[in-house]
Amino acid sequence: MPTHPIAPGTRVTSGFRTKSRPDHDGTDYAAKVGTKVYAANSGTVEWRTNERAGTNIQIAGEGVTTGYSHLSKRLVSDGAKVKAGDLIGLSGATGNVTGPHMHFYVIKAGKFINPTTWLKSTTSSTKPKASSVLKEGSKGEKVRILQAGLRKAYPAYRWNVSVKPRKPADR
Ligand SMILES: [Zn+2]
Repeated sequence: MPTHPIAPGTRVTSGFRTKSRPDHDGTDYAAKVGTKVYAANSGTVEWRTNERAGTNIQIAGEGVTTGYSHLSKRLVSDGAKVKAGDLIGLSGATGNVTGPHMHFYVIKAGKFINPTTWLKSTTSSTKPKASSVLKEGSKGEKVRILQAGLRKAYPAYRWNVSVKPRKPADR
């Protein structure tokens, strides 16, 4: 289940494609060197260091690739499997930066998407909605719509869950 890449409430210093920075493809979090950085999704670690991003980690899985730039330290090895919420590194000021911060980005279907929107759409909204809508005895159409939504939100999840109707007549 996707999680926040840095302690919730950490100040955002630059958002995704703002008016003043239309080419900024991620979210910048104010973070002093050594701040803990966590995997936002479950998947496979890819190291992607370059001059601009500095010490960088990407995680491919759950339908997206997430990225964490300007790190001071990596705590996972290239190719490692991680779960969302795992500690993966420490923030820093490597690469092309004016000061310490953590640049977080999300790539979906080959395009950068807004990380803040992605975090909101996958962390808090989907699961509570599922439990409030999908109850024992829920009928066909409602269940189908919900399942389609969940499949979209969690493409990597194993969808072998069966819903037992209360009585045969509910089918
Ligand atoms: Zn940035």
